[in-house]
Amino acid sequence: MSQYHIIGAGMAGLAAAVKLASIPKLNGKDINLYETAPQAGGRCRSFVDATLGCEIDNGNHLLLSGNYCAMEYLDITNAADQLIGPDRAAFPFTDIRNAQRWDVEFNRSKFPFWIFDKNKRVPQAGVLDHLKLISLMRAKDTQTIEDIIAPDHPLYERLIDPLSVAVINMTPDTASAKLMRNVLAETALKGGRACQPRIARHSLAQTFVDPAIKFLKDKGVNIHMGARLKAITYNAHNNKNDKAQWASELEFTDMKIQTSRDDTIILALPPAPASQILDGIDIALDYSAIANLHFKLDAPIDVDWPAPIMGIIGGVSQWVFIRGSIASVTISAANELLTQSADELTQTVWNEIADILGQDKHTLPPVRVIKEKRASLQQGPALETQRPACETGYDNLFLAGDWTDTGLPATIEGAIRSGYKAAQTAQKSTAQKSMTKEAKTHA
Ligand SMILES: Cc1cc2nc3c(=O)[nH]c(=O)nc-3n(C[C@H](O)[C@H](O)[C@H](O)COP(=O)(O)OP(=O)(O)OC[C@H]3O[C@@H](n4cnc5c(N)ncnc54)[C@H](O)[C@@H]3O)c2cc1C
Repeated sequence: MSQYHIIGAGMAGLAAAVKLASIPKLNGKDINLYETAPQAGGRCRSFVDATLGCEIDNGNHLLLSGNYCAMEYLDITNAADQLIGPDRAAFPFTDIRNAQRWDVEFNRSKFPFWIFDKNKRVPQAGVLDHLKLISLMRAKDTQTIEDIIAPDHPLYERLIDPLSVAVINMTPDTASAKLMRNVLAETALKGGRACQPRIARHSLAQTFVDPAIKFLKDKGVNIHMGARLKAITYNAHNNKNDKAQWASELEFTDMKIQTSRDDTIILALPPAPASQILDGIDIALDYSAIANLHFKLDAPIDVDWPAPIMGIIGGVSQWVFIRGSIASVTISAANELLTQSADELTQTVWNEIADILGQDKHTLPPVRVIKEKRASLQQGPALETQRPACETGYDNLFLAGDWTDTGLPATIEGAIRSGYKAAQTAQKSTAQKSMTKEAKTHA
């Protein structure tokens, strides 16, 4: 039987494995998943932190109800109830310079009634200002967000900037407008039903990783942890009518696996190891960091916000997420903070959020600071011309990962979609090969 080899058990690799394992005619025993780390999840992972004495995520992850591939993935892996969020498509904000509080709230239907309601739109910006958002839908692929909405626009500081860093992990002056356009088309343009904020109930692992691993194990999928792919060897026909090349050997740190042209290999690696292992990937390896500060408070926090997240304007902190007694602050597009000491950053952030959380500014709670230097590639317009397709020049080798050409920013939705696409493209190619073989046998 043809074998399926998926390398990398981040969200893209897990999604590819889950998609393949859920095809009834495929035997899970023919699917192999390899991961270099001792745990799956990649950039979407959780761990027990010794200082805080509880499980935390590497970073806050926000999804929207319109992330339809992520929702399907959770359905398949029986984890839909592990993603939570309000019925209202509401996003609380505060400006810490003057303690002003407001919510931006989308109405359920597609028509944007919310922009006509001053209690639901961004304060100090009128209907016409909000209509400017439509111009993002006409963004050219070469433009940044700031090319379309200038810094002096009333929505810039209170909506465009927070949206840009949260969705694209880049400030509007450098973020690809095409990526924002594509995200808005799948969320805001569909109305509030596609814009409800969603977060993991307990942890990223308990929502996106552990249930998927259980599903795969139940299906008989072979999971190899601690398996680092080092190189791929290729083979070619000597037949002048068939110029195809295919991967014929996978070399891991301590094993080699021979593969045939009928087997499928899905490389679901981050961009750096993928471009070392596979030739022909021409992508700038410039990264944009994300910093997260997890504060463990004395007791669970009960906030009266319409969602357990709050956008923060006017400081270094950008979003705070509340889960029980953990308050986690996210700072995206954070390359400039990489050289700042954790203590200094902690003090700045705690000064900004203590009041919002009703806590004493002078009592610093236990904290864990995580700076993810390689959270995503720098997603400006130039990257969009470099992202590789799922198909490679090799017959049995396919690419997945949030950095491949999904049309979406590097997000869970983008990673899952890339894994699905690789699984579906591989399946189609396997079906075509077996049809060609059958036709040749009958000829
Ligand atoms: C701090 C932070 C905050 C984020 N916030 C959000 C958010 O709010 N919303 C959202 O949707 N997304 C968010 N993201 C993005 C999201 O986490 C990623 O887009 C997604 O997890 C990427 O998945 P992936 O499978 O493409 O890549 P990865 O997660 O990088 O997975 C690749 C896997 O390959 C493995 N690997 C590497 N080399 C080898 C090798 N040689 N052999 C075998 N295995 C190998 C790695 O260990 C890893 O497990 C955030 C990311 C970070 C870091």
